[in-house]
This record gives sequence, C-alpha cells and structure tokens, in this order.
Amino acid sequence: MAIFLYQNDLPDRLKLGPSVAIDTETMGLDPRRDRLCLVQLSTGDGNAHLVQIARGQTSAPNLERLLTDPNVLKIFHYGRFDIAAMKAAFGVTTNPVWCTKIASRLIRTFTDRHGLKYLLQEMVGVDISKQQQTSDWGAAALTEAQKEYAASDVLHLHALKKELERRLIREDRMDLAQRLFDFLPTRAELDLMGWADTTDIFLH
Ligand code: MN
Repeated sequence: MAIFLYQNDLPDRLKLGPSVAIDTETMGLDPRRDRLCLVQLSTGDGNAHLVQIARGQTSAPNLERLLTDPNVLKIFHYGRFDIAAMKAAFGVTTNPVWCTKIASRLIRTFTDRHGLKYLLQEMVGVDISKQQQTSDWGAAALTEAQKEYAASDVLHLHALKKELERRLIREDRMDLAQRLFDFLPTRAELDLMGWADTTDIFLH
C-alpha cells in the first residue's frame, strides 16, 4: 500500500480508471462555513491519492474533470457531505455517484449502524481507526497518522460497494438505490442552499 500526497490538484498524467472512491476532510461539518482541506481518492488497488487544498483555493482542474466525468463513477460513504463540500469549494456538481451509506440504509434495515468503521468491520472484515477524524485538517503539514487515517477512508470502499451491491440485487432494491444515487447531487445542492435536515423539502 502506498499513500501519495499532492498539493492543490491531481497530477496531470494520473489515470484513475472507471470507478474512484472519494472522501474529503474539512474544517468542520458545515460545507458553507467550513472549508475543504483534503480530498482522498483510491481505485481500490490498495493505493491512496491525497490532494491537499489550500485556503482560498477555488479550482483544481484535474480533480474537477474527474468529478464531472460521466464515464467515471465516484464512490462515497455519505457522499451528500463530500459532494456539497466540493461543490462549495470548486462550484462543480459531482456525477455519477454511488453511496455506501445510502446502500446500507436501504438493505440493512435490521440495524441503525451504518457508520463506515462498522460496515467495513462487518462486511469487508477490515478494521480502520477513527482516531484522527476530528483533527486539524487545515494544518499545512499533515502528520503520518492523519495521512493514514485519511487514506483508510477510501481504500476499502470498492470492496464495501461490491458486497452492498450484491445484497441490493438479491433483495431487488438496486434500481431504487440507483435512483437515490442519481438524486444525491441535488440533495447536496439543497444543503448548500439552506434546505438541510430541519427544513426537509419533502415534509408536509
Ligand atoms: Mn474521512
């Protein structure tokens, strides 16, 4: 396993293939207030690519091209947040997307445990640490522990997606899942416009 760290954008020549797992780290949980600090990517090959985003940075052409490429599936866990964070930072709408948290909520209705750490333990058999989750991602130099934590959030998403997909197909819910994934970028946009949880637009 290798962790590659880049500044501001993906390198020009890097080819990541037709499906890329993506996660982000930010200064906090409000994408309108808290800036994007790090974007992590993996093709599921055991390597992670980390892109540090500078304060005030408003574009990352190679990354934006990947996010909007119709031939590249972007896999997230709770993509609603990451998609909003990257739209707030760069103004792009990430599409097409797949979300392991939505998939889990659709198929694992016997539990309310849909956190990434728990899902990876139960469905993929790997343990990831969540110790660095709340650290200072705005630091100019990330620690080794931060880099490893950030990488671990994308390294196993392909394996998790595969297992969730198998179950969604088995229970005949893959089509419904797909329609929810298709709506996800719109849900993220509503969040950025102020229609968050407490003002659910579908409520009476
Ligand atoms: Mn993360």
